[in-house]
Order: sequence, then C-alpha cells, then structure tokens
Amino acid sequence: MSETEIIGKGTWIDKLAFELLEREKSLGRNLDLIRVESGLGASGVPHIGSLGDAVRAYGVKLALENFGYKSELIAYSDDLDGLRKIPEGFPDSLKEHIAKPVSLIPDPFGCHDSYGMHMSSILLDGLDKVGIKYEFRRAKDTYRKGLLKDQIHTILSNSSKIGEKISELVGQDKFQKYLPYFPVCANCNRLYTAESTEYIEDEKKVIYNCHDVEIGSNKISGCGHNGEANIAKDLGKLAWKVEFAARWAAFDIRFEAYGKDIMDSVKVNDWVADEILNYPHPYHVKYEMFLDKGGKKISKSLGNVITAQKWLEFGNPKSILLLLYKRITGARELGFEDIPSLMTEYNELEDIYFGKIKVDNPAKLVKSKGLFEYVNLLNPPKNSSTHVNYRLLIELSKIFKEERAQRIMKKLLDYGVIKKPEPEIENIIDLAGNFADEFDQQERIEIDLDEKSKNALKELTYSLKSEEEPEDIQNTIYQIAKSNNIEPRDFFKMLYQIILGTSRGPKIGPFISDIGRKNVAETIAKYL
Ligand SMILES: [Zn+2]
Ligand SMILES: [Zn+2]
Repeated sequence: MSETEIIGKGTWIDKLAFELLEREKSLGRNLDLIRVESGLGASGVPHIGSLGDAVRAYGVKLALENFGYKSELIAYSDDLDGLRKIPEGFPDSLKEHIAKPVSLIPDPFGCHDSYGMHMSSILLDGLDKVGIKYEFRRAKDTYRKGLLKDQIHTILSNSSKIGEKISELVGQDKFQKYLPYFPVCANCNRLYTAESTEYIEDEKKVIYNCHDVEIGSNKISGCGHNGEANIAKDLGKLAWKVEFAARWAAFDIRFEAYGKDIMDSVKVNDWVADEILNYPHPYHVKYEMFLDKGGKKISKSLGNVITAQKWLEFGNPKSILLLLYKRITGARELGFEDIPSLMTEYNELEDIYFGKIKVDNPAKLVKSKGLFEYVNLLNPPKNSSTHVNYRLLIELSKIFKEERAQRIMKKLLDYGVIKKPEPEIENIIDLAGNFADEFDQQERIEIDLDEKSKNALKELTYSLKSEEEPEDIQNTIYQIAKSNNIEPRDFFKMLYQIILGTSRGPKIGPFISDIGRKNVAETIAKYL
C-alpha cells in the first residue's frame, strides 16, 4: 500500500482494524459481530497502563464500527487468579489468603463482594470515567456457569501433547508432569497448591493433591488434601498458558492486544487455539508497557501506583485518552508530570481539527484530525472550545491559593485570555490547582537556545532579580531583545516557551509581575 493511501481516519488504530478485517476475510469467518477483548487484572491496584489495554481495544472496536461492522468489547476480569502478594498499603491480614482466588477473598475495605471485585471496580470506574463502554465478564461466573467446559475437556484430553509443546515453545517443563488446570482445593480454598495429575475423561474429573509450591520466590504451603474436582461444576481454572485460548474460542474473540510480559503465554495460547481447539486465534498486537517515571519522587503524598482516579484529579479524561491513543509502540515512561503537555497537546489537536492551526503535511493533518476524533471516541465536538493554557493556570494557581477559581478567572479576563467565565474553564482551573498543590517541581521543557539568546536571557535574569522592581518589565524585555539583536517578537516567544511551554501567552510584563519576577528569573536560570 502506498503511503498516501489513507486508511479510515489515518491512525494506527485504523490500520490495525483494517489488518484485522483482512485477516478475518481470508479466514472466511462470519463478520456479523466482531468481538475484541481486554483482560483486567484483579490481583493488584490497577495502574493506568492496565486501563490502556481496554481503552485501546475500545479504539479498535470504534475503528471497526467506522468501517461499517458491528463490534463489542469484552472486559474480562481474571478474578479466579490467586493472590500472590499483598499490595502496598493493604492490610497484613491478607497474608492468610495468599494463593486463594481473589474472588474468594473478602474485600479488606468492606465495600465489594470480594478483594478481586474491589480491584476490578477501580479499573471499571476508570473506564467509566473516560467514557469506555464494555461488556463485563468475570472468571468466577465464566467457570461457575461452565462456559469453558468444552474447551477445558478438549485441552485436558490433549494435555500430554500440550505439555510437550509448551516445553518446546517456551521451555517450561511443568506441564509435562501436571495438567494445565488448577482446581481450587476443596479443603483449604487455595489455587496453585492443588496440582492435578490425571484427567478422567468419562467423568470430567481431575485428580489432585494439595502440596507445597513455590510462586515467584514465595513458598506456599499446601494442606495435603487428595481430592477430585469436576471441571464443569467445581471451582478451578485453566493455567494461563492455555486459558486465553479456551476463552477466545468460547467467546469468539477476534482481537486481543498483549504486553510483552505475557508474550510466552500468547505464543502457547495461539498454538492451542489453532491446533487443539480448532479456533483460529485472534489477531494480536503487542504493546509496550508503561514504565513509572517515578512520579513519587516529586509528589508529596502519592503512593506508587498511578491510577486513573489519581490522574483525573489533575488532568481531564481526554488527557488519558490522548496518552493511550497517541501511539502503541515505543517504551514509554509515564508520570503525572506528563499531564500539562498532554492538556496542551489536546488543545493543539483541537485547533488543527478546526483549521485554526495550519498543517502543511497532508498525512500529518489527517492523522492529527483522526487522533483528535479517537480521543473524543469518534464523537468530536461540533465547535471549538475556549482554550486556556494549563501551565498558565498552574503558574497562577501558585500565587492564588484562596478563592482560587474566582481570582484566576478574573486574571484571565484581565489578560484577555478569555471573554467570559465558563464552567469548563473553572474545571480546568481546579485540575491545574490540584497539580500546583501536589507537585513542587516545574518540569523543564526542551528548548534549543543559541549563544545570543542565552546572553539576552542572562541579562534579563539580572534585571528580574534586582532588588528594585524594574519600572516597566515589558519595556525592559523589549530593550534587552533589541540590544542583543533579537526580534522582540522572537524573544517574547522564547519566554512563553520557557514559562508556559507554548509560543503564546498573556502580555508578558504584567504576567511576570503577577507570578513573581524572582520566580521567573529562577526558571530562566535553569536554561542557562
Ligand atoms: Zn471494596
Ligand atoms: Zn489444600
């Protein structure tokens, strides 16, 4: 395909949906309903990256619909997964529940039916808040209703073949000895300790023994119970190496993305789906995992995990969607400090979308407009909104702590940044205010400065730092630019970039005076 040929709305999401469709057509599968799936962890506090999996799968669903197909997102919570370790900030009393399925562990906070549901709910609430629609399914119900029983039967009937293949594909020998199915021990309710060695096909039963096992670096004691479990009636679950395959076949899943941490599992599952279950595996894409930038270091009170809920105290839902739809590859470090640039970038995309910013490269134009539409879940606004620079609001929030929204709104009117107060602007003032209160450090924006500019900036810092307030800061800046042979316009632009991360802003003299000339001098000094 030539580069100029545009698929859908021109983003990676459209390309992916297109490839998926091509593959489905070549497989000759029915296209009446194309299901995409995303797994939700239920064991730990969901990081914003786990939200990413579902948000991106939803993007693919939207792209498929845009191509004229019916599609649905299944959000599957693996709440039969056993608890492996106690998350930071959770009570030690959970220790007695290690290795039990998270849906059988009481919610330590008492607000949900189980520990697992508590964790899933944080994620589902995050999805709701950013506007993602999904069909929710949980492992507990899926197994209890016997929805996977045919697939489990077929897998267990072929367990020796699968055990060998797992060893060949990923070098894990465990399943040559044990079946890839863990019953929940009828005596102690633990999952991975009960390992099954034999499958009685006629009775659909596995025979197991509950014994000591090692999970990660933890030794978990079994209770010694010998038992039998019916795969259609008793609680238990397939090992991850084969479970996706069973689910894909049972739910008819056509697309699922995965992170590189489960690459081996996907490799085996694809083979099991294709060769054992006779269900061509879904189309995949591998995404890079988000790495924590260590936002903790600059935060006063936050814990380790960047959740959607915490993010939404500082940024709007669109900043999350932009983060997740921008790209899918490339390892990405993530922190709350990314919020200001995402908020600004969204405004720029909106300006491109409404033709206020000209983009000469046609491919880039289409892609930017497409990205804007996906960030709006393919339901973009009809009119452009009033933009207020988020970094400007952070700077103003640092000065105005009392009656913040009111006083900042007044400043914005004085500066001529807005024409009238709007609720949406007040909302963004609140977010930026939270950001200013929570984070001390000002992020450093990358700017290339030549010697001439550096000299002019140096001169300006001296004059801003002087004991006596320069009479007219605006004029001082103008004169410094002139005497250094810099176009005043370019010098102003440079200052906006340093202070606000954009090329425009309110009239610079009064603004610098408002946010504190010594402050500004310190900010500039960081670039010298
Ligand atoms: Zn709860
Ligand atoms: Zn046991």
